[in-house]
Amino acid sequence: MKDIYETMLQKAKEISKNSYSPYSNFPVGACVLYESGKKYLGCNVENASFGLSLCAERNAISNAISAGEKTKIEAIAIYSPKQKMCMPCGACRQWLSEFADNENIEIILEGKNEKPYALKLKDIFPYGFKFDE
Ligand SMILES: [Zn+2]
Repeated sequence: MKDIYETMLQKAKEISKNSYSPYSNFPVGACVLYESGKKYLGCNVENASFGLSLCAERNAISNAISAGEKTKIEAIAIYSPKQKMCMPCGACRQWLSEFADNENIEIILEGKNEKPYALKLKDIFPYGFKFDE
C-alpha cells in the first residue's frame, strides 16, 4: 500500500470533523489526489431538504475544479467515523468517472486496523454513463 494513502486517509479523517450533517449524524470526509500531485478535501454538507445534500467526495472534486485543477484524478480516500469501508454512493461514482482518465483510479477506504484498503473504480462502477457525441 502506498504511503500516500495513509496520509490521504488521515486528511479525510480530519476534514470529516468539519461535516455539516445534523440530520443523518453521519459525517464523511474525502481527500482526492490528482495527477498534478495536489490533494483537495471535502466534507458532506446536508440540507433540511435532504435531496440537496452534497457528499464529501463531490465537495472535494468541486474544490479541485474551483481551484483550477486540470489534471485527472488518481485516487480518492473516503472516511466516516460512523462506518468502516465507507463506500462512495452511485452519484459520486459517476462524478469520479467523469474526472478520471480511466477506471483504474483507486478508492481508498478505512479497512481493518484503521489501515487503508484500496478498491478500483472499475470494479465498483463498471458501466458508467459516458457522453459520446
Ligand atoms: Zn456520494
